Amino acid sequence: MTGAVLNSLPLRDRVWLTFDDGPDEVWTPRVLELLAAYDLKATFFVVGCNALAHPRLVRRTVESGHEIGNHTFTHRHPWSLSERAARDELRSAAAVIADITGRPARWFRPPHGRMRPCLRDEAMNLGQSIATWSLSAIDWGPWGAAPRIATRLAKVRSGDTVLMHDGRGQHNRPANLTAVLPEFFRSLSRSDVWVN
Ligand SMILES: [Zn+2]
Repeated sequence: MTGAVLNSLPLRDRVWLTFDDGPDEVWTPRVLELLAAYDLKATFFVVGCNALAHPRLVRRTVESGHEIGNHTFTHRHPWSLSERAARDELRSAAAVIADITGRPARWFRPPHGRMRPCLRDEAMNLGQSIATWSLSAIDWGPWGAAPRIATRLAKVRSGDTVLMHDGRGQHNRPANLTAVLPEFFRSLSRSDVWVN
């Protein structure tokens, strides 16, 4: 899986590594260790209530040179909420992140990738850009066996935004993901990866 990404790419062609649903007391430190081992940077889209439970992990993530993004306060499906509750989810998580890290999040990713106009509006109010993805590791559920994750990650190309999960959530399989991350990270070099 070498050769997928060229060295010293222009910014728009670099790979953006993203990890969602954390922080998690077991798996976030493991992902941080692996990123450090390969000298790579990533963005962690944290769930506000998890961040509140593990503020030191959030700070450690930032101190390691990574970025924290907003992934709402409880990760409830945006379409299941009233507009007011949906806006609150975004605002509360933004406040928690700013409180813990001392800086506002610049990115918002809706749970399950489900947008709605009120979330777009609220993110804009907070100065947060919407972050989607182009390549999902599908590191969850019955499709999340390690070999299948590895096969998907091997398809990364210049300019991809890669969706992975360090948080356990309900169905995520971070043990399988982290088992194949070394091979994936080996295929990338620092100059290939977007540092925010
Ligand atoms: Zn999520």
